[in-house]
Amino acid sequence: MAVLTIQRRERLTAHLNPTRGTLYVVATPIGNLADSSPRSLDILRAADIVACEDTRTSRTLLAHHGIEARMVALHAHNEREAGEKLLRALREGSNVALVSDAGTPAVSDPGALLVAAAHREGLRVIPVPGPSAAIAAYSASGFTAATFQFVGFLAAKQHSLQELDVPWPVILYEAPHRVFKTVTALLERFGPERELVIAREMSKKFEEVARMKLEAAPAWLNDGAHRQQGEFVLVLGPGEAKKPGMAEAERILGILLERLPASEAARLAAKITGLPKKALYASSLKSVK
Ligand code: SAM
Repeated sequence: MAVLTIQRRERLTAHLNPTRGTLYVVATPIGNLADSSPRSLDILRAADIVACEDTRTSRTLLAHHGIEARMVALHAHNEREAGEKLLRALREGSNVALVSDAGTPAVSDPGALLVAAAHREGLRVIPVPGPSAAIAAYSASGFTAATFQFVGFLAAKQHSLQELDVPWPVILYEAPHRVFKTVTALLERFGPERELVIAREMSKKFEEVARMKLEAAPAWLNDGAHRQQGEFVLVLGPGEAKKPGMAEAERILGILLERLPASEAARLAAKITGLPKKALYASSLKSVK
């Protein structure tokens, strides 16, 4: 028994940084409690303080794994004051594990102010990677773009839909009571052919991930009372890459004309912008006159 205890303690401390006063940013499950990594549990077990968005939610996770921890609440409404106390504890050498209710802290969740303050003070910040709803949904979307954009909650940031008109996939979080309205607005703005992935209740009992054209999305959400319940991530498929307008093409042409004859400049400008060479040649002749 004594040997086991020593081995367990060695395993726990092996996960901790030798520097005291480290802030661990620990990802926790977005539904399925079995998604906690062994390392995240060791860090939660060994930390002096676990800073939680909601202590009641985190208590369920910790109790599930038999972890007793000193919890401190750090949420959207007390982030500054609670952050000050946690910084003091970090400065005094305590190891703090920061968690949110689900997923990765500081991603559409509190925690970024504390992390920024820890960096300012030269304290060590260590991420403990794990679940995040945005990345889980993107990984199951099947969009093959090299770039994607994470927007989070549309309503919170008062984004206009215009800003989502980009040639790469866009990841949105949405509340169940707004998901239908948002999907309808996306359909109106981007048209029936644009693709959408709806990832609902990921890693939970009623999980669904469905990829469809936007025109099919309202009917999908209306197919049964349960379809608009739970937690949602939307991944909007990429829009067409837009050709630059004539004004931008003429700016490029102007630069090329500094070094090249009109026909060559027009040929290259057409290649860069996708606009017709003839129009660009006419424009370059006007510029050189
Ligand atoms: N920080 C978290 C993360 O990294 O996943 C996100 C926190 S944000 C406050 C919560 C939102 O994430 C929900 O409203 C929903 O849009 C999305 N979400 C969280 N868990 C989910 C799940 N299991 N399935 C689908 N969406 C989920």
